[in-house]
Amino acid sequence: QKAEWAKLKNEKSYSADGHQVELVANIGTPNDLAGVKSNGGEGVGLYRTEFLYMGRDQLPTEEEQFESYKAVLEGLEGKPVVVRTLDIGGDKELPYLSLPKEMNPFLGYRAIRLCLERQDIFRTQLRALLRASTYGNLKIMFPMIATIAEFRQAKAILDEEKEKLLKEGVAISETIEVGIMVEIPSTAVLADQFAKEVDFFSIGTNDLIQYTLAADRMNERVSYLYQPYNPSILRLVKMVIDASHKEGKWTGMCGEMAGDETAIPILLGLGLDEFSMSATSILKARSLIRKLSRADMEKMAEKALQMSTTEEVIELVKEATNTK
Ligand code: PEP
Ligand code: MG
Repeated sequence: QKAEWAKLKNEKSYSADGHQVELVANIGTPNDLAGVKSNGGEGVGLYRTEFLYMGRDQLPTEEEQFESYKAVLEGLEGKPVVVRTLDIGGDKELPYLSLPKEMNPFLGYRAIRLCLERQDIFRTQLRALLRASTYGNLKIMFPMIATIAEFRQAKAILDEEKEKLLKEGVAISETIEVGIMVEIPSTAVLADQFAKEVDFFSIGTNDLIQYTLAADRMNERVSYLYQPYNPSILRLVKMVIDASHKEGKWTGMCGEMAGDETAIPILLGLGLDEFSMSATSILKARSLIRKLSRADMEKMAEKALQMSTTEEVIELVKEATNTK
């Protein structure tokens, strides 16, 4: 099996009936690039920039960040790289910001909420990204967007920094896409409106599942409620994909679900354009997708959306993919 996967390293990702998708990697540092290449990644679908800020006692400078972003963009040689702006808070703390303890950190002051308030931090990161943009195919993604107002504000700050840099004579790529993570149910429900303003969506199922079923992703006691295949999740995913396509945009997924063998057939059927996962899952996923008919998976996904439980969905996928 390993030998079969290795042969797919330099292949594109097609279903058995010729529908193309993109299989890309989640990374945390430039050091992860080697793994992306050796596993046949077609790019990076989620660069979690938090690690630049963690394990140290002060904020990273614009220059330090620029070097990291440049290294990743250059290393990928023109392949797409989706960089997520700082998603700190929740389970990830930064001691040197000395943020007050909260009752519900996952529902609190984190990610874009913090960045819109601490604009010094946000603007420094955006400047580093914009300066690095000419070294590859950069896409910028804002995390934890809950309202259109947040997206507009973040986008306006990005545009301001762009203007400033251009005035300073700095070269900036003219083709940077700007998108959002869909990991809060309000944003999935309102995807048709967001789709008019963003360039792309990436569904963050790790959080979307916890917020939809109100089950803390770290809490073992309620882990039975953390259900990726729950039809409620599948319907939200469908809403997001359909909304993006209607506006000529694309949708990816960068939560764990994107690399999951049971989920992949459904996601292919729902029309997901980009699957972002840990690099070590890519070849296995490519091999699986090559065996699936997108037309058949579309019919299967239609049925899944009409089911009422997780168990029924799992059973359906097993039957449709002959893995029972
Ligand atoms: C997600 O929420 O699905 C996601 C990819 O982000 P993180 O796991 O970093 O919260
Ligand atoms: Mg998340």
